[in-house]
Amino acid sequence: MLQLRKGRGCGMKGCLMDFDFDLFVIGGGSGGVRAARIAAGEHGAKVGLAEEYRMGGTCVIRGCVPKKLMVFASGYPSLVEDARAYGWDAEIRDFDWPQFRRQLDAELDRLENAYRGGLSGAKVETYNARAELVDPHTVKLSTGETLTAKHILIAVGGTPFVPDLPGAELAITSNEIFKLEALPSSVLIVGGGFIACEFACILNGLGVEVTQFYRGAQVLRGFDDEARGHVAELIRESGVTIHCGTDVIEMERAEGGVKVTATDGSERVYGAVVYATGRVPKTEGLGLEAAGVETGRRGEIVVDEWSQTNVPSIYAVGDVTDRINLTPVAIREGHAFADTVFGANPRKPDHDLVASAVFTQPFELGTVGMTEEEARCQGPIEVYSASFRPMKTLFAGRQARVMMKLVVSATTRRVLGCHIVAPEAGEMIQLAAIAIKMGATKEQFDATCAVHPTMAEELVTMRKPVRTA
Ligand code: NDP
Repeated sequence: MLQLRKGRGCGMKGCLMDFDFDLFVIGGGSGGVRAARIAAGEHGAKVGLAEEYRMGGTCVIRGCVPKKLMVFASGYPSLVEDARAYGWDAEIRDFDWPQFRRQLDAELDRLENAYRGGLSGAKVETYNARAELVDPHTVKLSTGETLTAKHILIAVGGTPFVPDLPGAELAITSNEIFKLEALPSSVLIVGGGFIACEFACILNGLGVEVTQFYRGAQVLRGFDDEARGHVAELIRESGVTIHCGTDVIEMERAEGGVKVTATDGSERVYGAVVYATGRVPKTEGLGLEAAGVETGRRGEIVVDEWSQTNVPSIYAVGDVTDRINLTPVAIREGHAFADTVFGANPRKPDHDLVASAVFTQPFELGTVGMTEEEARCQGPIEVYSASFRPMKTLFAGRQARVMMKLVVSATTRRVLGCHIVAPEAGEMIQLAAIAIKMGATKEQFDATCAVHPTMAEELVTMRKPVRTA
């Protein structure tokens, strides 16, 4: 029988005592909405939720969803080029950004309404207001209202971080890209992570001249070295100018945009400068001190494995806790919290073997499990890797190579990591992740018959390790 810490559980309907709600959620993003819907809709709790901006949060309104739609939009020019090689008399002309934005806005409105509908269907009371903690059971809304709850869930997410440097106010972030009135003719992207690499490719595909500065030696730090080198090469070949070991010293307004002075001694005016230098937990002004909630060095809310803070009535999920900052993880944290506290079904979110994808172009990077570098440190390994030109684009004359890689434990034979650089690698890695999460061995991969002709068949046909370590 699981021992619950003081204050966890007994949030069911009927335990209201003098509180307005069983649960009050601050933040209507992926984690908060899931927790609210499950607590109210499935477990019968009385739930209130406050959102200061738009329902759906970063993922839906200014993250994953609009980004992926821009990835699709930016892929058409090369598709049309390839179509010509396949015999089509196809031509692509100018990209109509305002038209795309109108369509995008309509889609985001539709999604936001779906989120609102889901919440009202579960009888969650929503407040279009900013909420601040007053004490362990009380929130104050920007409307002036004060509400009390037996439990409070903080799910306010993160916000882009721009380092302090002269002219920093001239930079935009991923938040503003979707709102641009017009696309600039040239852009500088600063950073080498998910957002920087994805937007470098998107803007390049939309016809913007893109330069990317990254302060380190190779972009996508933290991913498998071989995979990140491969992706960087593909991004370069597609037309993005990447300068590694380079950072911005200062920016100033100039005719035609922003003049950037860089650490490599260069000076240049760009139509826009996009900072993608990470995101920080959005905890400022949230009343955490007043409620006695502990935060960490980066401002993140410190939680235990149940997403409970040091204040027993207050929990936190999603990016504000800075664990694994991905939408599906926040959703699972929110769901596990609701089941634990309101569903008499205590369960912890599982942060092991979380697959992810970076939506770069021409090929995406899909990844799950350990990188080769991480796996080497935990014991002897075999590395299986293949690189080839895929049938579809090779026929159209393209030289871009796909990469498939398995990192295998030489002792247990388990596949410890899988890294795919390919078209639709995000789709492929989702399926590979199931097998890897189940503990599949290399021999079980090999025992699986190939689907032919596909790119993914390479995952079950790599016979000899390219190296051992
Ligand atoms: P990341 O943490 O992935 O990358 C930040 C980048 O900025 C790194 O290259 C980092 O360099 C660099 N950087 C940090 N501080 C500075 C500085 N002061 N000066 C110059 N460069 C700096 O953050 P992102 O903003 O790309 O993404 C934020 C989060 O959003 C990620 O955690 C990710 O999980 C999530 N996300 C997920 C996506 C997906 O699943 N496809 C897509 C987009 C975002 P260094 O490597 O040296 O630290």
